[in-house]
Parts: sequence; structure tokens; C-alpha cells
Amino acid sequence: MKFDLSYRDKELSRITTKKNELIVIGGGITGAGIALDASSRGIQTVLLEKRDLASGTSGRSTKLIHGGLRYLRQLEFGLVKETGRERAILHKMAPTLVKPEPMLLPILKNGTLSLFEAIIGTWLYDTLAGVKKNERRKMLLKGSVRALEPALREDWIRSGIYYYEYQTDDARLTMEIAREAAYRNASVITYAKVKGFLFDSSKKIIGVCVDDLLNGKSYEIKADVVVNATGHWTDITSRLNNLNSNIVLKKTKGIHIVVDAANLPIGQAIYTEALDRRMIFFIPKRGKVYIGTTDTDYYGDPDNPDITERDIDYLLSSANALFPSYKLKRTDVESGWAGIRPLVFKKETINNSTISRKDEIYLDKNSGLISIAGGKLTGFRKMAERITNIVEMKIKNRTTKCGTHNVLLHSSKTENNLPLNDYLYNCSNELVNRGFTRFTADDIVARYGTATKNIISGYDNMQHCNNSELRLLLAEYEYCKQHELCIFPSDFFMQRTGYIYFDIKKVNLYYTHVYEYEKKINNIHSTLIDSDYTLTTAILNSWIHK
Ligand SMILES: Cc1cc2nc3c(=O)[nH]c(=O)nc-3n(C[C@H](O)[C@H](O)[C@H](O)COP(=O)(O)OP(=O)(O)OC[C@H]3O[C@@H](n4cnc5c(N)ncnc54)[C@H](O)[C@@H]3O)c2cc1C
Repeated sequence: MKFDLSYRDKELSRITTKKNELIVIGGGITGAGIALDASSRGIQTVLLEKRDLASGTSGRSTKLIHGGLRYLRQLEFGLVKETGRERAILHKMAPTLVKPEPMLLPILKNGTLSLFEAIIGTWLYDTLAGVKKNERRKMLLKGSVRALEPALREDWIRSGIYYYEYQTDDARLTMEIAREAAYRNASVITYAKVKGFLFDSSKKIIGVCVDDLLNGKSYEIKADVVVNATGHWTDITSRLNNLNSNIVLKKTKGIHIVVDAANLPIGQAIYTEALDRRMIFFIPKRGKVYIGTTDTDYYGDPDNPDITERDIDYLLSSANALFPSYKLKRTDVESGWAGIRPLVFKKETINNSTISRKDEIYLDKNSGLISIAGGKLTGFRKMAERITNIVEMKIKNRTTKCGTHNVLLHSSKTENNLPLNDYLYNCSNELVNRGFTRFTADDIVARYGTATKNIISGYDNMQHCNNSELRLLLAEYEYCKQHELCIFPSDFFMQRTGYIYFDIKKVNLYYTHVYEYEKKINNIHSTLIDSDYTLTTAILNSWIHK
């Protein structure tokens, strides 16, 4: 099935000419998860996203599917258990996208995490989260921590723990979940901004008004139920048409920076305490290491969270304190991203102690709007299940069982029941046979999984291009346009491939070619392509020329 502009056009004319069952606003992981669950239960669903899928926080996270270790500190045992179970399910749903990541947790001498707390905590974690035998935590003496990471500041280390987190590509996971919903008949429409609600005579919401950001038109889309899953915009969306909403979110910003692995050559991911005793991650990926995250109150533009020099200084000085010999400089920072956390205030008392990092569902009895905010990437399936139960009860007066734990995402499906790893290895070999390095081949396979074969056939067909690196990039672009609802080159460089974060030099080298190619296809108004070009250029300039 095509998941492209023609799909978008067809679905738009379908959903605007009839009454739908469910509209979900927000194409982050929460909205995509709800669309998948609802469409899997046979609910006719529309998913509306104002920009690209995962262009909000779902493409700007630490990219970990947590086992829930951090929740132990808040004694959230139930949450640890649920998170651990979810992690195993997500790995089964998408083995090519959700993979184990060995992680070193050094215990520092003057740190806030005591050895006792760490031992009990990780033991409890293994037990509650149902961690696989071969992934259970190992206690390390100082000497073993030093052997694993000789550059870690020696006089700070007391001991350590070796355990497993799972890593993912947050934006691709979101896209794949949304695409899976589309395979089940959901209408997934990006660049469709909800600007207001439609009401019946008793002031109940019966649909939404949408601006189509690709052609300037406006539409009315009707549905039995509307769900607001707009992440840190949830409070704003809940007040459209001056609705009286009690949703109060505290917004904090978290940034990550990317350096070349040669400048921070760590052996595995590290999770430890930063200078101010907040936890900090160092995660190797695609020949780079990303470092994060910050946690500062955010009152700025919700659509464009910025990265300040202060944010970068904080991460660099924490890295340099922990790894003094690497002496990271500002010029070593190649790229980065910023995401906003919507932390939920309970409405009764508004003070810091009532802020929760859990998700919260709000049912507006007057308008009928259902809103959900907070939560984690890791917990999206359970959040979707809870919302879909409510939606199904409203529409059909019954609930059926959630079956999303049985879904196998497209990029993890093989043909003829071939074992997945053999299939992926063959794909990688085919790229190597065409002259690419194993690193490049594995990078493509890590991104597209079994769909790499489509990229390869696109590459073979693109014989007019004699620069093999550009040819592969254009084959990727073409695939993303046809099968991943990629509308603009910036969607490609950010959400679909992450090149702007992990290979910004390649983007700088070739991005004008991708825009030229897009203009040749000529299916989007050229002024929109021009402003997308300006956006990409501005991002590149903000990093490359620093
Ligand atoms: C720095 C950071 C690191 C994190 N790391 C992790 C991690 O490692 N693991 C983990 O499990 N969780 C992590 N999280 C949490 C996780 O990323 C979020 O909980 C999750 O991505 C939120 O998804 P969402 O769909 O609710 O929101 P979003 O992804 O923000 O999606 C909301 C969407 O709604 C759209 N929208 C808004 N208004 C409208 C409108 N009017 N019309 C149409 N669409 C609209 C937006 O464009 C956006 O795409 C992290 C969060 C942050 C900030």
C-alpha cells in the first residue's frame, strides 16, 4: 500500500464527505498509538497532525524504551512492572526498531545514588520488570568499571552496575505505528492543523475544523468522538473555541547534543550523574555519541524549542567533568535537538509536589472532548489501550480486547518466513556488493529493516545518477516519499532518517540535490518547498558554521 501524497488526497476526500467514528488530534507516539489500537478494533479512525509525524516531542526524546529503573526511586513498583512488560512487547512488535542497549551505571563517590540503593534497586528492577536472564544486572567493582571505561574520572568512581536498556528510533517508531494504523484503514493526514471544534446544538463536539497546510484550504471533519493527543499542546488544544478546560501543564525543555564518537570514544552507553547530580546519558549511535538531557522550565515558542548556549555548556561541562581527558569543545558539537515535556499538574493543588511524569486522561463532560497528556514513549501502547477502551464504550457501548501486542511492524516482517537476522544480513550484503561500506549498509538496514530491499531496488533503478552516495540518498528519499508519508525534505532529514542529527555533513553536502529532485517531482507548491529549504538551511547554519 502507498503511504504518500496520493493516499493523503484520497483519504481527505473520503473523511470530509462522511461522518467518521473517531478523530485523534496529534501525530506523535500517543496519537499514532491510539489510531493503531482503535483501527485494529474496527473503529473508523482519522489521525490529524499539523506538521510531520513525530515532529513534536516524539522525535526529540532520548530514544530509549525504558525498563522503568528510574521509577523505583519514586517507589512506583506498579509502573516498573508495567514498563518492563511493555518493553518486552515493543521488542517483539519491532525487533528491528527496539533493540537491547547495554548500559553502564557508574556509582560515584559523592553521588546521590548509594551502592546499597543501586543493588536493591536493580535487583528489584530485574524481578519486577521481568528482565531476561542474560540481560540481568551485574555488579561491578571499581576496577571493572575502569576496565570498561578507562577515561571515566578515576577518583569519582566507587563501583558500578552493568544492565540493559532498549534503544529505538523514536520518530521512525511513531511513523511505523501510524502507518500500521493506515494499513488497518485509518486515515492519517499530516500537515492538517486543527484550528477549532464543531459543536451540535447542545454544545457537544461533533468534529473539527482543519487548515490544510499544503494547499491553504479549510475543511470540516465530523466524528462521533474527538481525542486530543497533542502532547505539550494538549492544554492549548483543550481551550480552542474558548472551551473551559482544567488542563494545566508545566513544560520543561530537554536537549541532547551530538559529538563524533572519535571525540568521546566510550565503549557502551553510560547513565550517570551530571555535575548538578541530575542523571545524564551518553549513548553511542551511528558513529556518534549523543549526550542528554537538560530539564529547564520552558515558556518559549511551543513549535520551535530552541537550544541555548547555556544548555550546551551544561552538557559539555558535565561530560568534561566525567571524562576529563577528552576535553570536549563547543566546536566538537555537531548537532542536537530539543524536546518539551508536558508534566501534568493535578487540578486540586497546584504545587511542584503534585507534578506527575505519568499520563493523565481528562474527560470534558460538557463538550465530550477526551484529552491525554504526559506519559512516556515507552508506555504509549497502554495509554492507547486506556483511551481506546473509553472511545469504544462511547461509540459502541462495549469494549473489546486490545490486540496491539500481536502486531508485527512492517520493517520487521520478512518474506517467505525467512529468519529475520538472515534476511537483514542479506540486505546488508547486497549493499556491500554495490560498493558501500558495511557501516553504511548496516545504517540503512537499522533504519528500514526488511524494507531495505525497496531502497536497493530504488537505487538500482536510479541509474542516471553516477554519485553512488547521492544515488542511495535519493533512493531513500523516494522510498520515504512513497511509503512513509514523507512530504518535505526536512521531514526526511529529521524524522525519517535523523541525518541532520547523526550525519549533518552529508545533509550539508547533498541537501540542495534533494530539493532539486523534489522540485522535479512537482507535486507540492514550489513556495512551500522554498520555505522548507530555508528552514533546513537555517538549521544547518546554526550547527555547521558555529
Ligand atoms: C528530552 C526528552 C527525552 C525523553 N526521553 C524519553 C525516552 O528516552 N523514553 C521514553 O519512553 N520517553 C521519553 N520522553 C518522553 C516522550 O518523548 C514523550 O512522552 C512522548 O514523545 C510524547 O508523545 P506525544 O504524542 O504525547 O506528544 P508529541 O510527540 O509532542 O505529539 C503531539 C503532536 O500533536 C501535534 N499537534 C499539536 N497541536 C495540533 C493541532 N492543533 N492540530 C494537529 N496536530 C497538532 C504536534 O505537532 C505533535 O506532533 C522524553 C521526553 C523529552 C522531552
